[in-house]
Amino acid sequence: MSQSRTAIVTGAARGIGAAVAKRLAKDGFAVAVVDLDAASTAETVGAIEAEGGTALGVGADVSDAEQVKAAVAEVAEKLGPPTVLVNNAGILRDNLIFKMTDSDWDAVIGVHLRGSFLMTREVQKHQTEQKYGRIVNLSSTSALGNRGQANYATAKAGLQGFTKTLAIELGKFNVTANAIAPGFIETEMTAATAERVGVPFEDFKKGAAAMIPVGRVGTPDDIAATASFLVSEEAGFVSGQVIYVAGGPRD
Ligand code: NAP
Repeated sequence: MSQSRTAIVTGAARGIGAAVAKRLAKDGFAVAVVDLDAASTAETVGAIEAEGGTALGVGADVSDAEQVKAAVAEVAEKLGPPTVLVNNAGILRDNLIFKMTDSDWDAVIGVHLRGSFLMTREVQKHQTEQKYGRIVNLSSTSALGNRGQANYATAKAGLQGFTKTLAIELGKFNVTANAIAPGFIETEMTAATAERVGVPFEDFKKGAAAMIPVGRVGTPDDIAATASFLVSEEAGFVSGQVIYVAGGPRD
């Protein structure tokens, strides 16, 4: 293989990010497992190494420009120039608009939108130099509007515009950019939502599954499989797309 096989996955200590990191390691990438706290990445890194893969745990807040710069430099130095970036780190601060605070808004926009912007600006330097790259941004079906999520829906819709613009700007460097918009995926994030609305997680999942055409909720591996395709060499003519991975259309 001619180009560097180093991938960065943000928010990869758990949930969807952890599944994506493990899958990309199986696909042969050296994977930088980025999360807020380096210690929290130990489980994902250990799982990858136990399977014979290469992983590096890196602590960084993706919404902090200096930390992002340092993290990407560390990855480039220790694993080689990153050519694959999966912007997955995310948080929820759900509230109806009349109760939503300034900090609910800023925190969500900061992690999803500013975080993806900062990571991408840093990583594209390596991708354009390598004349090869793959960017995958985690959007959501919430981009279409979701009660209690004015901040999150705005960020996830914003990421779709961001993705399309990256595809246009970076295409000539052989860099593609796509977004995955998951529906209901069983993770700590959806478990926390169930808790917030006071419904046992099993019942919450059953209720969600009843609304989903394929009759089940999604798993982190459903998203990892889609990411695996989008970052592959053979996906080089797929760019600027939003792939809804939601057990039904939802767009
Ligand atoms: P999760 O289980 O809550 O995991 C998110 C990870 O991101 C956590 O490890 C978290 O670290 C990390 N993180 C948060 N803020 C960060 C920051 N500033 N810098 C670096 N890392 C940060 O979430 P998930 O369900 O796997 O979701 C992953 C992505 O998919 C998110 O972008 C989410 O919006 C999107 N998504 C999820 C669903 C779903 O149904 N689960 C549906 C659609 C879209 P800490 O543990 O330290 O907080």
